[in-house]
Amino acid sequence: MKDGYSREIDYLRISVIDRCNLRCIYCMPEEGISNLLPHDEILTYEEILKIVEIAVDLGIRKVRITGGEPLLRKDIVTFIEKLAKLEGLKDIGMTTNGVLLKKFARQLREGGLKRVNVSLDSINPDKFKTITRLGSLNDVLEGIEEAKKVGLDPVKINMVVMRGINDDEIETFALWSREVDYQIRFIEFMPVGQNSWSRELFISKNEIKERIEKKIGKLIPVNMKKSGPAEYFMLEKSEGIIGFISPMTSHICVRCNRLRLTADGKLRPCLFSDTEIDLKRIMRGGASDRQIKDAIVDTINLKPQGMLRESKPLRPMSTIGG
Ligand code: SAM
Ligand code: SF4
Repeated sequence: MKDGYSREIDYLRISVIDRCNLRCIYCMPEEGISNLLPHDEILTYEEILKIVEIAVDLGIRKVRITGGEPLLRKDIVTFIEKLAKLEGLKDIGMTTNGVLLKKFARQLREGGLKRVNVSLDSINPDKFKTITRLGSLNDVLEGIEEAKKVGLDPVKINMVVMRGINDDEIETFALWSREVDYQIRFIEFMPVGQNSWSRELFISKNEIKERIEKKIGKLIPVNMKKSGPAEYFMLEKSEGIIGFISPMTSHICVRCNRLRLTADGKLRPCLFSDTEIDLKRIMRGGASDRQIKDAIVDTINLKPQGMLRESKPLRPMSTIGG
């Protein structure tokens, strides 16, 4: 289905949980999220499946499961298996911090998961600990290897770049793409909720690109079908590719193809707008499939043409489902 600005909306990102086993400095305060959802406020898997089934009818072809940390939710593999059986749904991906990926990768792949994005902001164990506050780098690296081994493809590595914190590893991450066919993606740090964003910590896509080209070599553009907001490049003689996601400095909204469903059942037309449609209330109020469909159509029609740069979503990223 097309939105009011002729963009084809075929992608739904679903946060299945607001809890997390890490406390990344760019996402959460050290003590975690203060008002975690009570269990009965979180959409059940059955409710999510119903929403996806109806959304597929409207043209959604791809979903991404995210959180919080999606691998913390009980019975996530069974849920993926059921999702994979929905007719018309072409692609299921997951975004995870990778801590539990080694344990789950094979079951997820066998259950129908196709691709995985792993958040990894440093490959220095001490710095990894500083950024995530909890967790061990080794678990994530083993999770990434296992994902590749069991055939999740592509494996994307997402690095949120922060000046003075991990920007000294930009070149190391870029060089990684020479050796393995991962997609190494550099993400601009965004102000979200009450996170620690500041202008001093922010580093733009252009600066990251320049630093890679100066230290390593030319970035050759790669044309990817359906690349969403990301732009892709390659270093010469590389197995993998390098991506940039620059919500702060590029006009990514023109290519926006998505809706977001929060763990508590709010459908969001845009990451950067706090407009939400309360699908859970509508469903638990006994709505028919037709009424649920209408609510999804309404949300698509609420998609703004572009985000306001100065706008900062009130919800933390972990509850929106980044
Ligand atoms: N826990 C999972 C993970 O970390 O991959 C999934 C949820 S996390 C909120 C999803 C993505 O949002 C991660 O790739 C993370 O790096 C990104 N993210 C969170 N806060 C961000 C911020 N302030 N700026 C840019 N990206 C952010
Ligand atoms: Fe957890 Fe992901 Fe947020 Fe890190 S980015 S605190 S892993 S939800």
